[in-house]
Amino acid sequence: MTQTSISFENVWHRYPANRAGAWTVAGLDLAMAPGELLGLLGPSGSGKTTLLRLIAGFERPSRGRIVIHGREVAGPRHWLPAERRGVGMVFQDYALFPHLNAWRNACFGLKRGQGSDRVRWLLELLGLAGMDERYPHQLSGGQRQRLALVRALAPEPAVLLLDEPFSNLDVEVRLRLRRELPDLLKRCNTSGILVTHDPEEALAICHRVAVLEGGRLHQCDTPQALVERPASAFVSRFVLQANRLPATRQGAQLLTPFGMLQAAPQPSGTPSLVAGATGTQDAPAMQDASVMQDAMVMSDAIQLDADPCGNARVVGREFLGQGWLLQVESQGQELRVRVPLSSPLVIDQRCTASLVPGALAQVFPDGRAFQAV
Ligand code: ADP
Ligand code: MG
Repeated sequence: MTQTSISFENVWHRYPANRAGAWTVAGLDLAMAPGELLGLLGPSGSGKTTLLRLIAGFERPSRGRIVIHGREVAGPRHWLPAERRGVGMVFQDYALFPHLNAWRNACFGLKRGQGSDRVRWLLELLGLAGMDERYPHQLSGGQRQRLALVRALAPEPAVLLLDEPFSNLDVEVRLRLRRELPDLLKRCNTSGILVTHDPEEALAICHRVAVLEGGRLHQCDTPQALVERPASAFVSRFVLQANRLPATRQGAQLLTPFGMLQAAPQPSGTPSLVAGATGTQDAPAMQDASVMQDAMVMSDAIQLDADPCGNARVVGREFLGQGWLLQVESQGQELRVRVPLSSPLVIDQRCTASLVPGALAQVFPDGRAFQAV
């Protein structure tokens, strides 16, 4: 009995073409629970597809081990070829065979001796009953992606890898398929890894989400924990779209270009994270006044006041329904600021940007909570 479906143990990888260059995956440790749907979230080029290729057996790690259901599939002494790993894949571009009809596409991955009852069941489950004779070009985008799911799930894979599977679909179909995915995996008793560059998608349906940047894992947590306690300035910015303000120590407070911050009161019962109170490890960033820190604040923590001599200029404006999201440029920084519908600010207008008194900030590297004065 194993407690994990897939684990990475100190996995490093770099493409042969890039022998002297940066690692694509750098020292990854990660374990997935059986039945879990794990989101893999990161900007383009962060190594998401490479990670799936390592699991599937299309790439070899330079160092480290990958274990699937208790069996080492890649490591210093072991290598299990792709076709024996029990891994299914679904890609962004469906990858169906254009010259095979739906039924034959769906049965394509079946091994000798595997019956087609499961294919019939999957086609029905995914709403494709009665479409056996159709060719891929006779199906809609959503139906093609459903067929790709049937084909990947037909051989009963232990793990299904999904590489941005919804990005080519229109919004309605995308939302519907992504809502159905967790239940589908559960009914098939399969763990899943969903790669996406869209934080909303990952947070909406995954049990846990791993956030990657440049092949490095910043955090792997439940959606709620990621939102409440981002582990780095990168996670805060990429997942929550927080603004990053440079901050330096000034006495007991932090100085940012838009106002001062002071340590937020700790909720009672939680250990104090103020420098010095937790020992020496956290202390240096707080003690050295010249050290630049990152104060992360949400789009509603900044206020804008029209002012022809102000420190900021509106450079973009998006309609949100209940208000506007303004892009504002100030002292070389771009800020995202939410303002009410009644705001008179328009593109190119100058204004003064300042922190809303009492607004919360999370300050990295150590992630302490501060509050605008
Ligand atoms: P993502 O899926 O997150 O966009 P990838 O895993 O595709 O990222 O790529 C990670 C990094 O590896 C990128 O810098 C990319 O340019 C590089 N890379 C991807 N495939 C290859 C390859 N076949 N040869 C060399 N470098 C590659
Ligand atoms: Mg990719």
